[in-house]
Parts: sequence; structure tokens; C-alpha cells
Amino acid sequence: MQRCTDPCRPFSAWKNHSKTLVAETFDLAVLGGGCAGLSLAMDLAAHGARCPRTLVVESRAEYTNDRTWCYWTDSATAPPYPIVHRWQTMRVAHAGHSVSLDCASTPYQMLAAQDFYAAARASIDRRPEITLQRGTTVVAEPFRSNGLWLIPTSHGTVAARSVVDTRPPQGSRRGAATLWQSFSGQEIECSAAIFDPLSMDLMNFLAPDPRHVAFVYVLPVTPTRALIEVTVFGAAPLTPRELVDRLAAAVAERVGDAAFTTLRREHGVLPMGLSENLKPALERFVRAGVMAGGARPSTGFAFQRIQRWARECAQSLVSNGRPIGHKPDPLPLRVMDRILLEVLRADPKRGGALFFSLFNRAEPSRVIRFLSGDAGVVDSLAVIAAMPVSPFVRAALALTLRQSRISESKGIA
Ligand SMILES: Cc1cc2nc3c(=O)[nH]c(=O)nc-3n(C[C@H](O)[C@H](O)[C@H](O)COP(=O)(O)OP(=O)(O)OC[C@H]3O[C@@H](n4cnc5c(N)ncnc54)[C@H](O)[C@@H]3O)c2cc1C
Repeated sequence: MQRCTDPCRPFSAWKNHSKTLVAETFDLAVLGGGCAGLSLAMDLAAHGARCPRTLVVESRAEYTNDRTWCYWTDSATAPPYPIVHRWQTMRVAHAGHSVSLDCASTPYQMLAAQDFYAAARASIDRRPEITLQRGTTVVAEPFRSNGLWLIPTSHGTVAARSVVDTRPPQGSRRGAATLWQSFSGQEIECSAAIFDPLSMDLMNFLAPDPRHVAFVYVLPVTPTRALIEVTVFGAAPLTPRELVDRLAAAVAERVGDAAFTTLRREHGVLPMGLSENLKPALERFVRAGVMAGGARPSTGFAFQRIQRWARECAQSLVSNGRPIGHKPDPLPLRVMDRILLEVLRADPKRGGALFFSLFNRAEPSRVIRFLSGDAGVVDSLAVIAAMPVSPFVRAALALTLRQSRISESKGIA
């Protein structure tokens, strides 16, 4: 892809689907300009003139307010985007019982995707070294030629020394996960003041189900406005259509007789416990984002992990030109996640009771660190101690047996 030399002709006006255009070599090509791609671009921009010449290739022509990101934080530093709302209390409910937890020291905060995209684009626009190429799709796998990566796109072929690929793989390339988290949400404005914007419902478990762990998540931002979401952990991803009835029931239950209008809808599918990627490492090519280790395996929280990775990857690119992927979690946390996911996979009916027990018995700050992926060994032990012992022991045994069968079948002594 050539760099636009005529300022009157924006990149997006280019159309050349047949020729290979390798007029300029970029230091870095970022494939996908969503949360991970734009976070990396923003962190590179923060290095000023030291940042590598970077092209972000994004298939969307326009960004929309397609999601909200929520996370707990104790950071006193203001982020480069506005925060829509903060909650200092969260509620977890199961089988007629509920527990309210104080999270004032690490409030749960909500960010609108449109504000994040706008902040990212403003910071990219300030740096001549970085170009965001919207409306351009990577159409085939990048390949190596003469020490460079060549990336076929809908507007020609891009040449770059390094690649960070944040595209979510599709179909069978998506890989296997222990469980999938599927969710559908509806942001509504009600005619009556029915919400308490001081407290959010993190998990309000639906009746136990032999195939899924399902719960309702409610984020009230004013007394009349809230995002209501149904989330399901199960063996296969679910489409919005498969969640439509559960979401309608959750909204109806919450609003009662009040009239409401729908402001926005969102849907997502996240992997929980992706199988290990055994592909050999490629020279100056890394995968990143939610399908490449960016999501916390047992909860799906990804936004802060992606921010952390973006800072580290930008630092590495600026200091030695090499991109880095997501670091694996510390071993105790990985083991804990695998066991928890195995418990949920083997007996989804228990899911609500397990999470409720966790929130009811463990120190909230430890649970928050565990959910966010910041748990140390003591936090992980506290989480284990808060859960019923027997399903965890059974799951640990099942995992050990499965692992030894795999080792035997591979002929490992
Ligand atoms: C609705 C929703 C709500 C979420 N809420 C939270 C939350 O509250 N907290 C949290 O921690 N996490 C949340 N997540 C999980 C996670 O933070 C997001 O999925 C996040 O956007 C992942 O970032 P990403 O860059 O990996 O993927 P994306 O943001 O999806 O970015 C991938 C980009 O690649 C582009 N692309 C794809 N294929 C191509 C191609 N062939 N060529 C060029 N570009 C391509 C896409 O257009 C997209 O922009 C949520 C996810 C969703 C879907």
C-alpha cells in the first residue's frame, strides 16, 4: 500500500484490488483497529517521535458505540477517555439470597466504546508516524518475503517489518475453549425511576440449568436508564437470537409495568480457557486481543489486560522494534482458572451456588483481584477456600487424569 502523498486524497479513497502495492515499508502493521489495535496505537503515540511508522488496518469504515467496557480500578490517574459511570457497591444474587459488596476502594467503572474510539483516533491524528486505514480488510494470511511481512488487503498489499494481528480468528481457526461466554444486552430508558445508580448487579443468577450457567447483569447509570445484559457460560457460543427470550424476560422482570425505549443493543462471545496455542513462534509476528490471551480465562474480562499488554508491547517496539504478545498468567492463577472452568463445564447447575459462595465468603478486594487477573497466591488460596471443596477436588482429579491420558497417548513417560 502506498502512503498518500496528496493531502486531498484520503487513504480511504484508494481503490486498487488487483495490484500489489509495496511502495512503502512500514515498521509495524497492526491488523484490526478495535480495542487491542487502537490501544497499541495510543500507547505508541505516547512515545512521540520515537514511535515506529505504523499502519493500523481496520475493516470497519466507521466506528459506532458498539459496546461498553467495564472494569475495576484503583488507579488515581485519569484515563484518556471520559468515564460514563462508577459504582461503589455491587450485588450478587442466587436462589433468593443476595449479597451486597463494597467496592469503593476499587470502583467498577464504565466506558462507552464511542469515547474510547474517539480518544484513540485523536491521539493517532496527532502523530504523523501512525496511520489508521479504515474500510480496509485483510483478505489473506500475511506471508514472509525477503525479511518482510506482506499483508494482502482489500486495497493492495502492505509491507511491514513487524506485525501485530488482533483479528479474531473465524470458524475452525477460532480454536477450542473450555467454555464460551455469550451475552446480549439492551440499554433502556424507562418512563419511571426504577434503578438505583449507586449499585450494580454483577451476577443475578437465573434458575439452574443442566447445560448453562446463566445470569443477568444490570448497570444502572441513572434512575431511569440502565444496560441489562444476559450472560451464559456454555459449551458452545450462542447467537443473539438464542439469547433473545432470556433477555426479554430479564428486562420485563426488571422494569415491571414501566414503559421503556431501547437506546442500544450489544452482543458478544468470549472464549473461557482457550486451548494452548502450539503454533511455532513467528519472526516479528504476534497475535493479540481477546482471542489470543487478552481475555481473563475464567471471567472474560479483557479491557485492562489489553491496556497492560499495549503498554508493554509499545515499550518493546520502541526500544527494540519487536512486538510482544500477551504474557501467560502466573501458574497458580492458571491452575485455579482451569479447575474453576472444569467445575463449571462438568456441572453447570452448580455455577450460581459456586459464585455466590465465593462472593459471600471471600474478602471482596481478593475476589475483585481474582476476577481482574491481578490475584497473587494468597488471593487465589482465599478464593479456593471460599468455594465448596468436593467439586474442586473432583475437577482437579479429572484434569489430572485427562492430562495423564494425553501424555500417554503422546508417548510421554
Ligand atoms: C459487547 C461487548 C462488551 C464487552 N464488555 C467488556 C467489559 O465490560 N469489560 C471487559 O473487560 N471486556 C469486555 N468485552 C471483551 C473485550 O474487552 C472486547 O471484546 C474487546 O473489544 C476485545 O478487543 P480486541 O481488539 O481483541 O477485539 P475487537 O475490539 O473486536 O477488535 C478487532 C478488530 O479487528 C477488526 N477486523 C476483524 N477482521 C478484520 C480483517 N480481516 N481485516 C481488518 N480488520 C479486521 C474488527 O473490525 C475489529 O475492529 C466486551 C466485548 C463485547 C463484544
